[in-house]
Amino acid sequence: MSSAYDLIVIGGGSGGLAAAQRAAGYGARAVIIESGRLGGTCVNVGCVPKKVMWNAAQIAHALQDAPEYGFDARTAGHDWASLKQKRDAYILRLNGIYERNLGNRKVQLVRGHGRLVAPGEVEVNGQRLRGERVLIATGGRPWRPDIPGAELGIDSDGFFELEQRPQRVTIVGGGYIAVEIAGVFAALGSQVTLLVRSERLLRGFDLSLAEGALESLRESGVEVLLHAPPAALSREADGIHVQIADGRVLGGQDALIWAVGRQPLSDCIAPAVGLALDAEDYIPTDRFQGTQVKGLFAIGDVTGRAQLTPVAIAAGRRLADRLWGGMAGRHLDYDNVPTVIFSHPPIGTVGLSEEEARARHGDQVQVYTSDFVPMYHAMTTAKPKTRMKLVTLGNERKVIGVHVLGPGADEMLQGFAVAVRMGATKQDFDDTVAIHPTSSEELVTMR
Ligand SMILES: Cc1cc2nc3c(=O)[nH]c(=O)nc-3n(C[C@H](O)[C@H](O)[C@H](O)COP(=O)(O)OP(=O)(O)OC[C@H]3O[C@@H](n4cnc5c(N)ncnc54)[C@H](O)[C@@H]3O)c2cc1C
Repeated sequence: MSSAYDLIVIGGGSGGLAAAQRAAGYGARAVIIESGRLGGTCVNVGCVPKKVMWNAAQIAHALQDAPEYGFDARTAGHDWASLKQKRDAYILRLNGIYERNLGNRKVQLVRGHGRLVAPGEVEVNGQRLRGERVLIATGGRPWRPDIPGAELGIDSDGFFELEQRPQRVTIVGGGYIAVEIAGVFAALGSQVTLLVRSERLLRGFDLSLAEGALESLRESGVEVLLHAPPAALSREADGIHVQIADGRVLGGQDALIWAVGRQPLSDCIAPAVGLALDAEDYIPTDRFQGTQVKGLFAIGDVTGRAQLTPVAIAAGRRLADRLWGGMAGRHLDYDNVPTVIFSHPPIGTVGLSEEEARARHGDQVQVYTSDFVPMYHAMTTAKPKTRMKLVTLGNERKVIGVHVLGPGADEMLQGFAVAVRMGATKQDFDDTVAIHPTSSEELVTMR
């Protein structure tokens, strides 16, 4: 049976678009099947609208500091509805650009729900497409716990649909999405409670960053309750009531947002394909994004590895480079993936946390830290601290982790990630001339 396509991609999000376009660039006959809006999570309900909201929150912080820099900066408040309208319009433009790009690059787009019914055979809109290779890039969706009244809450997708800012809002979760949403609401004037199940925020990140994030959330007025998973929600006359597992009740909430994790969209694979998912329904892949089924590949969030847009894109492009670009062996290295948490101030991190490094390498690990009030805050009454940490390994003190919380951390880390990837040592950092006056100079002057 001859195949109509060289590549069928299910899912037109970050990874799927990147893979199909790169493959088509090499001359492959590629088709993308997308059931929702082109661009996937990142563009529609993730990174992009989130960054717009983070920018708004940053401006709110700047306006707060403005009088301390001599400005008379009174404002009549913030118009959430008009910002949402502009944000939605921006995203609609991006959706259009993505669609045009597919056309320009000769990738066919089929709108509909794709289902892999057999190896190399995908059903969509009642038709069967055949491809020599199939790529699953279906991403994930927000998860919520099965407790009474859970449906009274919304999730991160719902956050982006809010037409008005809730005045009293509870966010449930301790991961980066919960921290980011809490920061936005607090900066724009909501009364925010963050309910965290465990004893800390930001599991998997360096503890110093988690502690710093907790401190800055509390400083910005967010009430953070640790060991406080909700047990039930109910609708009462004054709003949503949240019953916490330990018996406490939070009353009168205008909204509750679940930010407790995501689950993979891997149910589009028929049993006849013979693919076994892992215990959490992610698609297991090897270093070349291959699955146990010949000709079937998976990338991005549905694989459960480093769930970030640039990771999905990089994995997709490398896969196409290898399969159609003649680059044998090309694959994505999942070590040293840098990432940013868009909190206030932001957090940037790459490599191993101190805890991970010590667990792997014991006393071969040496750590350098710096805590200081950045110069920006010399003029302000608030004195939030910037925190930095370098994690190094062995006698040569190879830098295996860089962790920063403070203004500018979001833009600072990309360059340091290059250095870490290239195997820079603490001596290389020390030998690099500082840029003054900046916060980042601390990273090359630590003792
Ligand atoms: C609130 C939030 C904030 C985030 N912020 C950041 C950030 O700042 N930086 C960052 O790097 N990452 C961020 N992420 C993560 C990022 O969005 C994801 O890692 C990324 O989108 C994953 O890309 P993907 O291609 O795997 O899946 P997606 O982008 O989710 O794309 C999957 C696509 O597949 C489609 N689809 C699913 N099933 C089918 C089917 N059966 N048939 C047809 N189509 C289907 C979906 O409609 C979707 O369009 C954020 C995520 C969230 C939720």
